[in-house]
This record gives sequence, structure tokens and C-alpha cells, in this order.
Amino acid sequence: MTYKSDIEIAREAKMQPIQEIGKKLGIPEKDLLPFGHDKAKVSAEFIASKRSGNDGKLILVTAINPTPAGEGKTTTTVGLGDGLNAIGKKAMVCIREASLGPCFGMKGGAAGGGYAQVVPMEEMNLHFTGDFHAITSAHNLLSAMIDNHIYWGNEQDIDQRRVAWRRVVDMNDRALRDIVTSLGGVSNGFPRQSGFDITVASEVMAILCLALDINDLQKRLGDIIVAYRRDRSPVYCRDIKADGAMTVLLSQAMQPNLVQTLENNPAFVHGGPFANIAHGCNSVVATTTALKLADYVVTEAGFGADLGAEKFMNIKCRKAGLAPSAVVLVATVRAMKMNGGIAKADLGAENVAAVQAGCPNLGRHIENLKSFGVPVVVAVNHFVTDTDAEIKALQDYVVEQGSEAIVSKHWEHGSKGSEALAIRVAEIADAGLANFAPIYPDEMPLLEKIETIAKRIYRADEVIADQKIVAQLKQWEEQGYGHLPVCMAKTQYSFSTDPNLRGAPTGHSVPVREVRLSAGAGFIVAICGEIMTMPGLPRVPSAESIMLNDEGQIEGLF
Ligand code: ADP
Ligand code: MG
Repeated sequence: MTYKSDIEIAREAKMQPIQEIGKKLGIPEKDLLPFGHDKAKVSAEFIASKRSGNDGKLILVTAINPTPAGEGKTTTTVGLGDGLNAIGKKAMVCIREASLGPCFGMKGGAAGGGYAQVVPMEEMNLHFTGDFHAITSAHNLLSAMIDNHIYWGNEQDIDQRRVAWRRVVDMNDRALRDIVTSLGGVSNGFPRQSGFDITVASEVMAILCLALDINDLQKRLGDIIVAYRRDRSPVYCRDIKADGAMTVLLSQAMQPNLVQTLENNPAFVHGGPFANIAHGCNSVVATTTALKLADYVVTEAGFGADLGAEKFMNIKCRKAGLAPSAVVLVATVRAMKMNGGIAKADLGAENVAAVQAGCPNLGRHIENLKSFGVPVVVAVNHFVTDTDAEIKALQDYVVEQGSEAIVSKHWEHGSKGSEALAIRVAEIADAGLANFAPIYPDEMPLLEKIETIAKRIYRADEVIADQKIVAQLKQWEEQGYGHLPVCMAKTQYSFSTDPNLRGAPTGHSVPVREVRLSAGAGFIVAICGEIMTMPGLPRVPSAESIMLNDEGQIEGLF
């Protein structure tokens, strides 16, 4: 049996005009700002008018620790959304936008896969509605204004060695990681070392995704720390007077993008912060608006549950006053086998023992998620190569953990394949079993917050932080930043900081290499291990095989 590629399936989609999709949510045509026929932004006025309504139920889709075998969180998010609609519920999905960098590098698309996709997928993976370009422009406007401020006399007394604000571009370009700016003589300013990050790593991206509305956006932009003076006092974006113009550049980007699934159900695709140095979820505005428009909102958090779900709960839900009614933990037989020590090349053969050996990774995620007070159901994202015995082993293990695992075939069959999952998730969400709370209070000292996550979620014995880091955290507490949540940046492949330690490791330590203050976004980043904020392209980038065919269609994009 041969299967169609994601792009082939997406191309066959029978899309409805976006106005029809808006109608399903009760959005009048005048409040849709169409971008072509099948994408639209939702007006700020409409969003504001919905603020006081009742909220639907929020369902988070997360996963076990990712492996190169692929877990399919987005695919499951979309498949579950379609499944809920198919059983007669009013549901929508909220996912992130795609970055151009990985698109031309090696990662798959960001629109789901198989018969569980959001369309138009080519556009969603390319320029879409221009949000990332707007974020890039707003970020670089601030960069330009900082250098200009220094050029015209440096009234703020910026220490040029301590400019913290870099530049961004939405491309994987390792040549730009470390650069020298202002070369070429007196009229070009003062040369200094700087560099580029990829747009999704910009603090502006994190701010756009956490801001409650446009006023909150401007306030947070103003709060960004751009540089330090010789006395180490911070210089804010507001001191450079860039926050107003940045808000103007971002005002349209703040409005969520409405698109549809292959089954013509509504989806918001909005925002896309990195899941390491940022929190890795779609925008608060999209999620809170969706909750006013639909009875069930299915959303996704990046990476595995140790990072993505933890940040979703401790950062996004805390800050936006959200509370999930249920969590769907995606697992695959293939990823269980890899967590059980099998190499990617050997995944084809049935291996029940390897599935069982990998299951403790799943078990720990179930336990962790329950500690946030939310009911958990495991979705076994079915691959056509899975055998019945392997699936049974996975399901038996989950039952032993006092939970349940439902096989879902949305990739192969769309909503017909996800009905069982949808029925059960709706039952759980409706039962009102959730009693959500973040796992640490605002008042807890910053180092203790890091320790709480490391011990309760990663099951580490200790956090190792040298005196410099401890002192820095203390200083931020004295400056009034002690109430902020912590954003952990570590490998997504393991509970530990060692990407090769699969399964459910214990007895490990979490070394904190560096801490950063994202004062605008409103979190402290704890960096544990090597973190890349400007990826490079692989030896053979996928860009080499992307082209237009004779019919003018895009080839080679997934
Ligand atoms: P994540 O959101 O966890 O990164 P995605 O949902 O984007 O993962 O899926 C990654 C890739 O895996 C996509 O190209 C998708 O088509 C593929 N995929 C997902 N689920 C399945 C499945 N059940 N069978 C085959 N391929 C799948
Ligand atoms: Mg995804």
C-alpha cells in the first residue's frame, strides 16, 4: 500500500471560503480581514467584544520525549479537533505558525500530516499572513534605533560592550551567529560585536504570544532590557522610545489567523515562539479568543511534556489565567521502541520488549501531568507499521499506571480515525475532573523555582549553579523580578540535560550554565546545556529540492 505525501493530500483539500469558516464560529464577515480566499485575520474589535463571554474547555496536546521517529503532536491536535467536530461538538484548534528556517532545512511542516492537516499548508509554511515578517521588522527597528541612539551622542550612556539586543532573521543562517556591526568608518557608527538569532527566538515573538491585548503588548515591549550602562543599570526599550513604533508594526500581527482543517473545521494559527529560550505555545490572544468561540479548544505545546507542557502550565496558563480541562499525551509505538534503546534503522521489526522497555518514559510524563491537577489520557498516534502486540503492550502499561491509552488513526483516516479519542476526551473534559494549579507559586525564590522543576518534573537529584548565577538571581529578586516564572532551556530529547539519556533517568544533576532575564516577555530563562538560537542548514538542505512544477505548484515542500 502506498500513501500520499502530506503535500499531495493538502493539495486535494476542498477548502471552503474563509467567510464560511468564520460563520461557524459566529464571526461576522466585517470582522474577518481576508488574506486571499482561505486565510483571514480576526478584527481586534470583535476580539474585544467577546471578552466577557463564557469559556469553552481547553485541551492540551503534549507528548513523550521526542525522538527522530516522530510523535505527531500537531497531527494529533488537528485530528482530535476534527474528531470532536465529527461527534457533534463545537471545537477548534489553536496551533503555532511555522518558521521559514526549518522549512528549508530539514524539519517537516508545521501544519500536521496525513489526513489531519491545516490548510493551505504551503502558505502556512511560507509567508502566511506576514506575522513573522512583522516581528522581524519590529525587532530590527529596535536594533537600528539602539545603534542610532549611540551614534547621535548616546544620551542614555549605553555601555557599547553590553548591548544585549541582537538582530533577527527568519532563516537558518549560521554565518550570522557572530558578527561585527558598523564597520566602514566614522560615518557608519561605532563598530561592536553582535549577532543574529532566528526570528522565533526573538523576545518580541514571546511578547506577542503572551500579551493579553495591544496595550499589554506595548507595555511589555517597553519593558525589554536592551543594554546596560557602565554602572550595570538596565536601559529599556522605552528609554530608546521604540515601543510605540514597534507596536504599530505589530498591530496587525497581534490578530489571530483563521484557517481550516482538511475537514473544514476552524483553526487559529498564531505565533510561534521557540520552545527552549521561550515558552513554545501559540498566542494567548488566539487561545483566549478561541475559548469564547468554541466549546472545546485543542492546542499544542512544543517538545515533550517535560518542557512544553510544563511551560504551558507554569508560564502561559499562569499568566493568562487559563486552566486546561484535560491533557492528551501523544505516544507512538516507534518512539517507545527508541526510548527502549532501539536504533531508528531497526524500528521496522516488531519488538514488544523494546516497547515495554521504553514505557517508563511515558509513565513519568503521565505522573508529572497529573501533578498539575489535570486528567491525562494517552493518545497512541497510530503508524501503519505498528503491530497489534506492540500496541497492546503500550496500552497494558498505561492501564497499570492507572490511566488509559486510546489508539487514534487520524493520520490515515481523519476524523473517522479519531472518533474514539474524541469521545473519551470530551467525556473527561465535561466531567470537570480538573483542579489545575501551577506547581510553584509566584512568591517562591527563583532558584527554588528552578529546583522545583528539576526535581519534580525531571526527577533530578540536584541543581548545580555556581555563585555567579546564584548572585544574579538574587539581584533580580531585589530589582523586583522575583515573582516571574522560570523558562527552562534544555534538551528536548531527555528528562535530563543529556540528550542521549532516554527513558526515565534518575540520579542526574541539572547544571544551570547561564540565566537570562526576558523582562518584556516576563520570565527568567535558565539555560541548561547548549542552546542554539540561530540554527544552521544541513549539508543537503531541503531547499535544494523545493521548486515550482510546470503547473505552478510547489514541489519538494514535505
Ligand atoms: P510534532 O507536532 O510532534 O512535531 P507533527 O504532527 O508535526 O509532529 O508530525 C511530524 C511528521 O510526522 C509529519 O510530517 C507527519 O506527517 C508525520 N506523522 C505524524 N503522525 C503520523 C502517523 N501516524 N503516521 C505517519 N506519519 C505521521
Ligand atoms: Mg508540532
